[in-house]
Parts: sequence; C-alpha cells; structure tokens
Amino acid sequence: MIDSLFHTLIYHKKLLNNRSKLFAELQEEAFQIRDFDEDGVAWSERHYPGGFTSYASRNDLHYMSSTFHALEERIRPCVYEFAEELGYDLSGLELSISDMWLNIMGPGCVHTGHIHPLSFISGTYYVQVPPGASGLQFEDPRLGFQMACPPKRKKLQQSQQTFVTHKPTAGGLVLFESWLRHEVPPHIADDFRISVSFNYNWSDAVDETEE
Ligand code: FE
Repeated sequence: MIDSLFHTLIYHKKLLNNRSKLFAELQEEAFQIRDFDEDGVAWSERHYPGGFTSYASRNDLHYMSSTFHALEERIRPCVYEFAEELGYDLSGLELSISDMWLNIMGPGCVHTGHIHPLSFISGTYYVQVPPGASGLQFEDPRLGFQMACPPKRKKLQQSQQTFVTHKPTAGGLVLFESWLRHEVPPHIADDFRISVSFNYNWSDAVDETEE
C-alpha cells in the first residue's frame, strides 16, 4: 500500500458572470486606477517592465473603491470555505483582507517566483484574460528539499508534477496558501492580462456585544 500525504490545495471557481454589472465595472475601473495612480506607474516602470501594478502604491483598493469593496465581499466567503477545507480550526477567529491591488500585464511583462509573506491565504481574481495569456504557475513546496532526486517522467498526473499551471479565465477566482511559491511566466498575448490580487489574515474574532 502507498498513502498520499501532505496535500497542497488550490481553490478555484467562477466568481462573477461575465455579463454581471460588477464584472464590467471592475474592467472599467482597472484602467481608471492605472491612470490615477501616478506613483504606481512610476514604480512599475522601474520594477514591473511592460506592465502596471498598484502593489507598492495602492494596495488598499477594497477601501478606496466601492467596486473593489464589492469584489472583496464576494471573495471573503470563498476564503472561509477554503480555510475550512484546509483543516484549520476557525472557531473564535476572523479572516480579513489586508491588501488588495491591481495588476495589468502587457506583452512581455513577467511576474517572477514569489510567496506572499506575513499572510495566511492569498489569491487572484481575473478581470481580463485574453487568448494566449499566461497562466499562474505553482511550484511544489518540497522542491528545495529534493536535491538528490532523478528527473521526473514527462507524463505525470497533475498531483505528481513539480510545476502546475492554473489557466485563468475572466471572472475566475483562485486561492492558495500564502507560503506557496508561484509565478506568472512572460505574458505574450497582444492584449492586457488584468487581475486583482489580495492577502487575507486571521485574528481573534471581535465580540460585537462588547462595548
Ligand atoms: Fe503572487
């Protein structure tokens, strides 16, 4: 017998219908935020060639915009559902968003491998995904320990692969634990790949009956 242990879970679902009002509003506001966020444009020119991100300038979009606040309200139940599925005991705890930012990747833009430090659950909502857009590539978290392993076979089921690419679609949501390393390979489509990324943290639940 062989047991399979220590699973790494990825949550994904279609969050918004492409014909919904919120879906369209997010698409429209994405470019407005880019035009408004001069600090973000300047930061992106130095650190995010070919794209725009508000990661270092406006990572509070859920406060700044009622549209992004509405998106956060749609995401939050999914984060709870995912945390339950991961086996965490959430009794007496509250999960809340700490950061939400916008990414607009143009041709050639790349987002190299990274984790989301100081967070519990992270994820991305996809605003616009043109044909040929890059996926979101996850890396086996045990890779750093595998210093003496032979190469893997070419054809393996997803659960045995070292790198797995999630193919996003517009209106889709993906969640993962913040320690899981991931990257977006070079975006080669002509049109913009637009996404909203975010982090959630946990804390003791506030007792609303207390003064
Ligand atoms: Fe990320």
